Amino acid sequence: MSEPQITVYGAFWCPDCHRSKQFLGEHQIPYHWVDIEDDKTGEQIVIHANKGKRRIPTLAFADGSILSNPSNTELAAKLGLKTTADRHHYDLIIAGGGPAGLTAALYTSREGIDTMVVEKAALGGQAAATMHLDNVPGFPDGVSGKELSGRLRAQAERFGVELLQAQQIDRIHSHGNYHCVVTSDGSEYSALAILLATGSRYRRLGIPGEEDYLGAGVHFCATCDGPFYKGRSVAVIGGGNSAAEESLFLTRFADRVSLLVRGSELKASQIIREKVLDHPQIKIHFNTEVEGFRGAESKLHTIQARDSLSGESTDFEVPGAFVFIGLDPNTAFLGSSGVLLDSQGFVVTGHSLVHDGEAIPQFGGSEPRILETSVPGIFAAGDVRADSTKQVASAAGEGAAAALMIRDHLNTV
Ligand SMILES: Cc1cc2nc3c(=O)[nH]c(=O)nc-3n(C[C@H](O)[C@H](O)[C@H](O)COP(=O)(O)OP(=O)(O)OC[C@H]3O[C@@H](n4cnc5c(N)ncnc54)[C@H](O)[C@@H]3O)c2cc1C
Repeated sequence: MSEPQITVYGAFWCPDCHRSKQFLGEHQIPYHWVDIEDDKTGEQIVIHANKGKRRIPTLAFADGSILSNPSNTELAAKLGLKTTADRHHYDLIIAGGGPAGLTAALYTSREGIDTMVVEKAALGGQAAATMHLDNVPGFPDGVSGKELSGRLRAQAERFGVELLQAQQIDRIHSHGNYHCVVTSDGSEYSALAILLATGSRYRRLGIPGEEDYLGAGVHFCATCDGPFYKGRSVAVIGGGNSAAEESLFLTRFADRVSLLVRGSELKASQIIREKVLDHPQIKIHFNTEVEGFRGAESKLHTIQARDSLSGESTDFEVPGAFVFIGLDPNTAFLGSSGVLLDSQGFVVTGHSLVHDGEAIPQFGGSEPRILETSVPGIFAAGDVRADSTKQVASAAGEGAAAALMIRDHLNTV
């Protein structure tokens, strides 16, 4: 990460300080943090910058300028992020600037389809926040998430994609062939097609050390990071199907897998449960509440846990922990859109919309395209889509496939 060009002066108890820090974090902009409760020089700088007032957060920039308690919009403007679109209407609006959204955008823009991407945080999506990706085709030595997202962005820009940042899509509605998105600043933009590429979020434990060791011992994807633990011991945290399945998968690499389950039983299907219980490399620890991660020099070495029955503390000495406590799709904004979601909130597309060969009235006599949603002209790709594989390569692949389907759709409207 480059040397921070911004210093944030604030205090641990100040909500606006948290908001500004979160905004910078979401956009992956490095900053120095000075808590003026502990740092008297910092406090003096704040008082001097605010003409005698102790106003926080105060943000000092490398060019000598100061912002006192800026709104997120003011901060976005100062950072040179483009937050408003050039026009009101596009051929295609893409919700989300991760690997799926940016790949689709470069395909469509390259073909002359007028495309805008709306991204609420950093371009590159979850991939941008990943330290090292080892399984992206074309990078034999692996690639950092930052480099990959920089390259995706540069390629999309080369073909003329319009990229909006620091804008969340709050709502989508359609009338006839027109689809409209409403962004967090209240603006409304219309398009002939929309691609939903808003991804999903791995549920976090929210315990001390989790953020500190993210990608450096704490992981959320066994396919992505399991191979780093060949011949070592790892722990899996969770008690459902995915924790059990991923424990089995990790035995291909790790010598020993400790499965830490909060409750007194595994909530996986019977077949998987039996496989896990019988597996010689897996040891299950029931009633185990994980409380924190500890390590040194940016490497995890201990999981701190507590036996919820006896109250006793137990440490698990492992270099790797995989957290599988669920995945939440970013689909809250689709509430009134008419887009069908599955029971977990992921977007349903293509053949999965057709039941018992029955025609879907809104598609006339024809079937939706493979990546089309229940609303004709609205497509979905990547992690947000039901049954997707939650990998960068497949998200990018779905983005490319969706772009070609959108091209077909645009020829019909
Ligand atoms: C820690 C971690 C490590 C990983 N490691 C690997 C790995 O090694 N290899 C691998 O192949 N995969 C890995 N993955 C998975 C991979 O990152 C994802 O599968 C991939 O990024 C999915 O791409 P996507 O474009 O579908 O969604 P995302 O990358 O999630 O991008 C979606 C984007 O949409 C934006 N967004 C969401 N809601 C809105 C809204 N309402 N308005 C505007 N924007 C919105 C989000 O801010 C985000 O930028 C990892 C994931 C994590 C979390």
